[in-house]
Amino acid sequence: MKTDYDLFIDGRWVKPGARFEVRVPYDGAVFGTAPKANREEVEQAIAAAKKAAPAAARLPSHKRHEILTKAAALMQQRTEDFARAIASESGKPVREAQGEVGRSVQTLSFSAEEARRNVGEMVPVDAHPGGTDRLGFTLRMPRGVIAAITPFNFPLNLVCHKIGPALAGGNTVVHKPASATPICGYMLAELFAEAGLPAGFLNTVSGSGGEVGDFLVAHPDVAMVTFTGSAEVGKHIRAVAGMKPVTLELGANCAAIVDADADLELAVGRCATGGFAHSGQVCIHLQRIYAAGKIASDFTDALRSRVAAFRIGHPLDEASDVTSLIDEPNAVRVIQWIAEAERDGARKLIGGERAGRATVMPAILSGTQPGMKAVADEIFGPVVCGEAFDSIEQAVGMVNRSRYGLQAGVFTRDISRALWAAQQIECGGVMINDVPTFRVDQMPYGGVKDSGIGREGPRYALQEMTETKTVVINLTGAPK
Ligand code: NAP
Repeated sequence: MKTDYDLFIDGRWVKPGARFEVRVPYDGAVFGTAPKANREEVEQAIAAAKKAAPAAARLPSHKRHEILTKAAALMQQRTEDFARAIASESGKPVREAQGEVGRSVQTLSFSAEEARRNVGEMVPVDAHPGGTDRLGFTLRMPRGVIAAITPFNFPLNLVCHKIGPALAGGNTVVHKPASATPICGYMLAELFAEAGLPAGFLNTVSGSGGEVGDFLVAHPDVAMVTFTGSAEVGKHIRAVAGMKPVTLELGANCAAIVDADADLELAVGRCATGGFAHSGQVCIHLQRIYAAGKIASDFTDALRSRVAAFRIGHPLDEASDVTSLIDEPNAVRVIQWIAEAERDGARKLIGGERAGRATVMPAILSGTQPGMKAVADEIFGPVVCGEAFDSIEQAVGMVNRSRYGLQAGVFTRDISRALWAAQQIECGGVMINDVPTFRVDQMPYGGVKDSGIGREGPRYALQEMTETKTVVINLTGAPK
């Protein structure tokens, strides 16, 4: 399996001026190497995307559909290679990595379908007195060159969420993958070329976010920026992008409510997944659990038993449930946040120790306070904070006490309470009898508050990645 890549520009592999090593976060072993692009190389990628933009806009929908469908089929065939790359560079347990490949295939397939229904709508122009004898409709026009900047934690699926809809809408793309996980991005570029994507439609350039990313965002030939990553970088991008449309899929500290009447076994099982998948490095990671006072201690005991059974190990070992964080500084940071919470009165019910290079043992905290970093900020580690509540109104207030608002979960058998909570919780999606971590790839997905702007899911991303153009025909000269 190839793990050393050059830049992918204008349909060709271009030798870079400099390279960097990509390491397995769990043990630091070198997995591959990737280009460290300089400004000139990024400029070449933008120029290639700009040159190809008219051809991309002209490519008929059935051809866009065909290429995306072929790409999905090729990816399915290469599941093992992609899963190995995801597990190696992001440190995700390989079973979860296989799941990510399956989801990426779906994301490309849904994008292919959207390519065939990228339509505008009729506008009833003559509903206005001034619009008599006029016929109006809208077209969905490609925006042109789209810069896609992606994070480390889903190095394949989140890239597909950008490239799939962008191509479906007739755009060209310059993709900058995260520096920790560039190999999946290049594998995807290679796969699209094999699927028949013409030169220049997709260009991939890795390198430092502050240099390559900033240059892309500010470049006058880039028409739109689609970004997934931290709130801090997202806010910076918004400031640099000026008038360009920007989609921001940012961080969160998601919460779930477990009401007194909930199916506890279901809730415990789902919370164990939502709290600890990919060591909590998931944007919809379940970080805060609010359980009704009556059941809180039973719930916590059962969750602790589940957590105690997790197997820690290498990401390529099929038996591993928990592997490591993306790097040592993040492991140190998570340990510090736990220690700060303990210093201020929280109790560690299980885990929270450092094990190996970048591994943090899955942890449950209780007795936390709203101002603690482990509660108020995005911990992006294998930690959940559990607290009790007295009333559903109080629980919803606790969920909303956050600067973020991506997704939330509500476990209850009472449909009225569930729907009331769904309406009151300030976020982009509420999962009833499930954790905030639930996502299938065609659903509208995105946040409010510091969790971002805009929605993904191919149908919704396509709306963001195309411009509405209104056409009105004056029919006054037509026979009466
Ligand atoms: P990050 O540090 O914000 O980086 C994301 C991407 O932005 C990387 O490619 C990074 O490049 C690049 N970047 C950094 N500085 C930049 C700048 N000044 N201008 C332009 N680009 C820049 O995020 P991460 O640590 O990779 O990912 C974790 C974060 O992503 C978490 O906050 C998580 O919640 C969020 N996330 C959100 C969603 C969602 O759908 N809402 C999904 C997944 C993850 P380098 O790698 O070279 O620094």
